Amino acid sequence: MQRHARDAHATACLLAAAARQTAAYHTTPLTVPAFSPYIAAMHIAVIGAGISGLAAAYRLHKSGARVTLLEAGPRAGGVIHTLHQQGCLLETGPDCWAGNKPAGVELARELGLDDQLIGTREGVRRSFVLCKGRLVRLPEGFFLISPMSLGALAKTRVLSLRGKLRMALELVWPRRYGSRDESLASFVRRRFGQEALERIAQPMIAGIYTADPEKLSLKATFPQFMQYEQEYGSVIAALRARGANRGQGGGAHESQAAGPRYGMFVTLKQGMGALIDALVNALPPGALQLNTPVHAVMPDAAGVSLALPDGPVRVDGAVLALPAHKAAGLLAAADAPLARALGTIEYAGASVVNFIFDRAQISHAMDGIGAVIPAVEGRRIIAFSFSSIKFEGRAPEGTATVRVFMGGALAPDIAKLPPAQQQAIALDEIRDLAGIHGEPRFASVTSHHAAMPQYHVGHLERVAEIRRVAARHTRLRIIGNAFDGVGTPDCIRGANEGVKSLLSSGILHTT
Ligand SMILES: Cc1cc2nc3c(=O)[nH]c(=O)nc-3n(C[C@H](O)[C@H](O)[C@H](O)COP(=O)(O)OP(=O)(O)OC[C@H]3O[C@@H](n4cnc5c(N)ncnc54)[C@H](O)[C@@H]3O)c2cc1C
Repeated sequence: MQRHARDAHATACLLAAAARQTAAYHTTPLTVPAFSPYIAAMHIAVIGAGISGLAAAYRLHKSGARVTLLEAGPRAGGVIHTLHQQGCLLETGPDCWAGNKPAGVELARELGLDDQLIGTREGVRRSFVLCKGRLVRLPEGFFLISPMSLGALAKTRVLSLRGKLRMALELVWPRRYGSRDESLASFVRRRFGQEALERIAQPMIAGIYTADPEKLSLKATFPQFMQYEQEYGSVIAALRARGANRGQGGGAHESQAAGPRYGMFVTLKQGMGALIDALVNALPPGALQLNTPVHAVMPDAAGVSLALPDGPVRVDGAVLALPAHKAAGLLAAADAPLARALGTIEYAGASVVNFIFDRAQISHAMDGIGAVIPAVEGRRIIAFSFSSIKFEGRAPEGTATVRVFMGGALAPDIAKLPPAQQQAIALDEIRDLAGIHGEPRFASVTSHHAAMPQYHVGHLERVAEIRRVAARHTRLRIIGNAFDGVGTPDCIRGANEGVKSLLSSGILHTT
């Protein structure tokens, strides 16, 4: 209630200030000095210092703009944060990114982190899936939801004979013509059968999107599968043909990967936090203002007014790099239709629980990077990883770290539980799965509330509508994980594109 009153007051001040300033425009200086002797750049505020906002601020700074990055919290990084405990490196948010999406690796290289880039540890690049209470190897020769050959399908122990036969029928299953969106569950059930959905697709997808596959948009998340059905009449046939064309057998998987140097997933030796630190360090001194929540944003033809804790300020342009529901809140007074459009994107929460154990406390061979847990198994976690195995250098000899992922759209209440309860659930779940005895030496619980956008069926249309309504604000760009991909490199690419579009709109001028 108090917060609402404060926000309402801030918005009222802002509206009054915006009205005054639109008539006689001048910028109220923030504490950021101009830094380029060559460009009398306009002043751009970036709101939210997660990876999207940091990448945007960095790109603006590199382009010569004067940038101020406003962050509500006490640190930069948003959901990305690396903890160092007892000689172990623990990730409380993402622990890596897909190397086949170039924006992530390119940014790391540009920041001088090339020699920090690492892939998953060689020799353990395999995962498990829980199958009727036992961990079995995830089928090899699969590309996410589909086998790349009948041989790969025949070998897997995850599916029953009946399930395998149904999956193999995909090769001759009639194609559905048209480009109408459908849920991932509907697509997988239609083409591969219910067992493939429950045992393979659902757990694989939950680990990426924390989503309900019955609602997840195929078109927004895996459009290539739709395309394969249209072009080849079968996903398996498409993956086989594409692999054969590349002359590398199981090529579809590798062709999507970052190459032999990294494997499929990439991170930094010093953790994801090193990317955040490098971005912060690349900004001019004072550009990042922590503990500075923006209460409202009011764009107009001549600039953008912001309601900050210390009062209204005026900038020449702004980039909102927030979860869509938060961007909606900031824009509610200025543009109700835009706020409503942003509010149509639903979010789910998720939690990460990190444990440190003595290696001897874990009886599992730890001969893979971790396991995904199908919802049909009725457990309370989405996945866990042997994080000290997954990447080199994460824990001292004799120590093991385990990271548990829980919550998401199918278990929305778990991430809302008190941390001690979440920790107890996570430990209880992995005790028998990984053969853990005794208590952890250290545990940390990080709940990310409403942090994961849900790309529901119709997502592309919702994003198009947001962009249509937002287009009237020439000095404002809205970026973040709600629009063109949830992954770290997607956010970086979105930031690059948002900045490019703002700069090319002609609002920055040089003298
Ligand atoms: C648990 C978890 C695991 C993940 N794992 C992976 C993974 O392994 N690989 C991968 O590629 N991706 C992963 N993702 C997805 C990816 O990490 C996120 O989509 C991405 O980091 C989001 O970045 P962002 O900057 O858009 O948003 P956020 O990180 O949410 O940042 C938004 C920032 O805005 C600030 N803010 C909010 N309101 C205001 C305000 N009013 N004023 C000022 N500042 C404000 C917040 O404090 C926050 O710092 C994961 C996500 C989660 C939650």
